[in-house]
Amino acid sequence: MVKKIVKDPLFLAQKSVDATEVDKQVVTDLLDTLRANLDHCVGMAANMIGVKKNIIVVAAGPFQFAMINPVITKKSGAYQTEEGCLSLEGVRPCKRYQEIEVDYLDQSFKKQHGKYSGWTAQIIQHEIDHCNGIVI
Ligand SMILES: [Zn+2]
Repeated sequence: MVKKIVKDPLFLAQKSVDATEVDKQVVTDLLDTLRANLDHCVGMAANMIGVKKNIIVVAAGPFQFAMINPVITKKSGAYQTEEGCLSLEGVRPCKRYQEIEVDYLDQSFKKQHGKYSGWTAQIIQHEIDHCNGIVI
């Protein structure tokens, strides 16, 4: 189900906790909400629909995928950039890494490990920040 986007900075500043299989509906809702906002949004975290769980969704070309309880295990190639966010106005400077490796659970709650670079890696870093209560 498509949910309303949370913009309350005090809510978004709170840390999320790990998700479990009872949160499967949240994963579906988050993917639905991302798909409804694809014209101006490339990723979302669960707290942006009001659920403080470590779940993110990422748009990569024509596909959208979910990462549950994502943890960055490796990062390299720091660079400075600017990002915008669906939950705030304008853009802000930030530091990102060109290449990252991530441990996470997929939509079926199976353990996965992935390597990402460039744009997809940047989206994942932005959304994991949301899980930690950081808005850019
Ligand atoms: Zn954001």
